[in-house]
Amino acid sequence: MLTPITELKGVGARLAERLTRLNVFFIEDLLFHLPFRYEDRTRLVPVGSLRAGDEAVIQGTVELAQIKFGKKRMLLVHVTDGTGMILLRFFYFNAQQKEALARGVRVRCFGEVRAGPKSLEMVHPEYRIVVDPEEIPNVDEHLTPVYPTTEQLHQLSLRQLTRRALEQLAQGKLHLQELLPAALLEEMHYPELSAAVQYLHQPPPDVALELLEERNHPMQLRLAFEELLAQAVSLRQRRMRAHREQAPALNCADKYTTQLQAQLPFKLTDAQQRVFAEIRADLHKAEPMQRLVQGDVGSGKTIVAVLAALQTVEAGYQVALMAPTEILAEQHYQNLLRWLTPLNISIAWISGKLKGKSRRETVAALTAGTVQVCVGTHALFQEDVEFARLALVIIDEQHRFGVHQRLALRNKGVKAQLHPHQLIMTATPIPRTLAMTIYADLDVSVIDALPPGRKPVETVVVPESRRSEIVQRVAQACQQGRQVYWVCALIEESEVLQCQAAEDTARDLAEALPQLRIGLLHGRLVTAQKEQVMQQFKQHQLDLLVATTVIEVGVDVPNASLMIIENAERFGLAQLHQLRGRVGRGTQDSVCVLLYHGSLSQLARERLKAMRETNDGFEIARRDLEIRGPGEVLGTKQTGLMQLRVADLLKHQRLLPAVNRWTEKFIVEHPGEVAALIQRWVGEGTRFADV
Ligand code: ADP
Ligand code: MG
Repeated sequence: MLTPITELKGVGARLAERLTRLNVFFIEDLLFHLPFRYEDRTRLVPVGSLRAGDEAVIQGTVELAQIKFGKKRMLLVHVTDGTGMILLRFFYFNAQQKEALARGVRVRCFGEVRAGPKSLEMVHPEYRIVVDPEEIPNVDEHLTPVYPTTEQLHQLSLRQLTRRALEQLAQGKLHLQELLPAALLEEMHYPELSAAVQYLHQPPPDVALELLEERNHPMQLRLAFEELLAQAVSLRQRRMRAHREQAPALNCADKYTTQLQAQLPFKLTDAQQRVFAEIRADLHKAEPMQRLVQGDVGSGKTIVAVLAALQTVEAGYQVALMAPTEILAEQHYQNLLRWLTPLNISIAWISGKLKGKSRRETVAALTAGTVQVCVGTHALFQEDVEFARLALVIIDEQHRFGVHQRLALRNKGVKAQLHPHQLIMTATPIPRTLAMTIYADLDVSVIDALPPGRKPVETVVVPESRRSEIVQRVAQACQQGRQVYWVCALIEESEVLQCQAAEDTARDLAEALPQLRIGLLHGRLVTAQKEQVMQQFKQHQLDLLVATTVIEVGVDVPNASLMIIENAERFGLAQLHQLRGRVGRGTQDSVCVLLYHGSLSQLARERLKAMRETNDGFEIARRDLEIRGPGEVLGTKQTGLMQLRVADLLKHQRLLPAVNRWTEKFIVEHPGEVAALIQRWVGEGTRFADV
């Protein structure tokens, strides 16, 4: 049983409301709201041994206190303790304060030490006057916790409330249920729960602070493990629930898939065949498939998805294919027309820009069931779009969508209790153990090889000052019959300005290279224009395509073998890799030029170096995880999925094999504890995703 937070002394309705913003509803939640750092007020530090960056308690005598006048009035107080001198600097002060800090007065201060112009300083330290010189320095027994907090909730009140809750815990008035099985605690050598919690709120003075700060302390690992397990259990449980739901079993004689393969200009790679076999087996079952296909840029995910679509159509059902951008949706549509029209399959297209009569007709055809495959952007799950017999939902470039969008589309199929199968595709490959945890609600297939004959893209990093050289290189490439992308960076967040930048670049290049046929593609063109430009580029009626990042995902023109990315220093690693994936799709040698402006930051240099050194999506993802952290890379931060409190998917990666090993075991062997574990750890984001 959990105890409502209002039962804690000092918590009224108003405070309780503020605590909910920290996801604290019960007193127990407060105990799991852990410090993100600590201050050491357990000992007095000799001034002489301070270094800039330290946070410390000092005690000494005021040597001199003076007001300095200048641009900004301030109070400067020199304090010495026999080992050294430190300056206290106050910008806000009143006359009484100045008076109290007179020469000869003893003060105790706590604050961050920084290097000032002449000596070490503390700016606005916490301080108090020590009245009795005989007073024994009375310092704290524990490190002082610093909690993440929220508006109108003071650090000090949070500290006090937590201290009260800990007292209750120590007195046995509050009980934290141990949810980890004894066998697990033993196997991992983990301490018991309440000991770990107590320790992390009030670490003893001799704690290894570096371990704590790196979140690598055994007490933290124990909680991190529990949190990761809770997340994985929650996702896995969702998958088990989904498996109990009904889906149409898509049985067919494989007529269409055989026909299409016979008609393709290439043979499927072994990896593609293996992954399709896994999908095919799923589709035969009367429970909804929930499969994620991971494959690097260019590994050929589209054709695998199309084969799955064909199986669905042959079994008499409809397919929805959702892509994150209009250009990609349009390209999928063109591919499907080319591949499926010969098989007499009817295909439609829906995007936010489809309006009026044509939209009404398309929607009507979907509802009537005369359209068999529908491609589109997220416009696919607008309310009035209804499917007669939707049995397969394919989501391309999943990391671009939120969980909610995915679920919204899934619900389109709930007719007579039949859920559609789901196939989710992503080009953000991540290590297997990580995938098992964060995609515990999905089955994962990996297309782990590129089609034969692909050559790695040579990548060069070039300063803007050599732009004219690069322009000449573009001219040469086009003269040899190759095609080129010129990608303009996001100079501003504003789409208008981005498009403007692309327009300017296109004009400049047209002036410099009058012999070339140059096209322009950006988000503000109307659909028909975008379509036309893409078609012209595909059919080699254009040599050079100047574009914004609208071409980032999916675009496929094998004859393009040179890409210039302007302001490459501003892009993230994953995005650069995706963009670069637009070249190297044909048989020629391809080159990607990363143009950069000005001097590079450390992070930008690391990113560009990674791009130069490797073409391997897994390696890129690994480095990206290191540079940016998993929340950003996997989009979980944006979508609110798996917001972790103690655990860190990267720092605690080595816990994942054991977490994965215990996930199903926990559900099966400890069914009574599952709900409590999820309740304790899984944040609102994931709870919401379940609705
Ligand atoms: P991605 O996995 O990035 O979505 P695509 O599905 O767009 O990759 O495929 C990239 C290119 O490779 C396309 O031109 C596609 O036709 C081609 N392709 C796919 N599979 C094969 C294969 N087995 N052999 C040769 N080319 C292939
Ligand atoms: Mg793709």
